[in-house]
Amino acid sequence: MNEHQHLVRFVERSDAFEPCAKRNILLFLAGAKPNLYAQMKIKANIHDKHEFERLLRLNKFPFLVSKPKGFEEITSIKGSKAVWKFNGTWYGYDIFRSLHDKSEFDRYLKLLKQKKHKQADILAGELYGYPKCCVDEYIRSHDENYLRKRYTYHEYFSKLHASDLKFPFIAFTPGSLHCPYAIAMNRAYGLALKRISLRFYKEYTTAKTYTAQLIIDFENDFGIWKQKDGHDYVAITKNKIKGNHYLLSFLSKKPYARGTIINAQVTMQYHVASVKPGKRIGHLNDFHHERRFTLL
Ligand SMILES: [Zn+2]
Repeated sequence: MNEHQHLVRFVERSDAFEPCAKRNILLFLAGAKPNLYAQMKIKANIHDKHEFERLLRLNKFPFLVSKPKGFEEITSIKGSKAVWKFNGTWYGYDIFRSLHDKSEFDRYLKLLKQKKHKQADILAGELYGYPKCCVDEYIRSHDENYLRKRYTYHEYFSKLHASDLKFPFIAFTPGSLHCPYAIAMNRAYGLALKRISLRFYKEYTTAKTYTAQLIIDFENDFGIWKQKDGHDYVAITKNKIKGNHYLLSFLSKKPYARGTIINAQVTMQYHVASVKPGKRIGHLNDFHHERRFTLL
């Protein structure tokens, strides 16, 4: 096995990467994605960090790694409380195809510091190989007036959820669900992923459905839409699924009060959890989070 294959095998097997991070790194190693950002989450496996960086250096990929940051996870639901505990450390990696791309990334950071957001977004789009039309739409969507005119609340969130499912292999939200460049890129990336790691491709694309009880937590709202034709909720799985209390979002025409418990069908595929809400089965008064380090 050569160093490139070592790195592929390492990423496939490591449990320090979430599915999206694995996807991005493997697509980079397949030669599809030009540059990438990925997070590594370390619980007990600090060895993974050393090994990952050793293999990146052996493969001569320039990279930047962030300082360690702590992360919390919900460890239990006790009565009306979601209890969070400090569960490990994460690092952000920016990994580049060449020293030239790394220096372009430095220029991107400089533009951000100077608050030249538009120029920074255009440069980032080039570094990550995103279609120009999608980058242009992304820049336009920073303007609240534009968003309000273009979409209703329901249309906006429905597009976000639909994009996640329609474009599971790319790391950006396309300007439109019908963008031909995004569709072609998603298809090509899917094939590249399958080629470089059939094992991960199968894990990532297989859909699994769970029945769960969800606690409605809060509603996504940027305060742009005065009249709302829907509600995009973040809900927490009351019991653990695959060892985790997940935070899931779903769009509803029907309003729910915070703390409402509903039955739901949750389908996990790619990095997406799709929620089919069922009957309301209860309510937790004064539902809240207990966090040691930060307040939600
Ligand atoms: Zn596009």
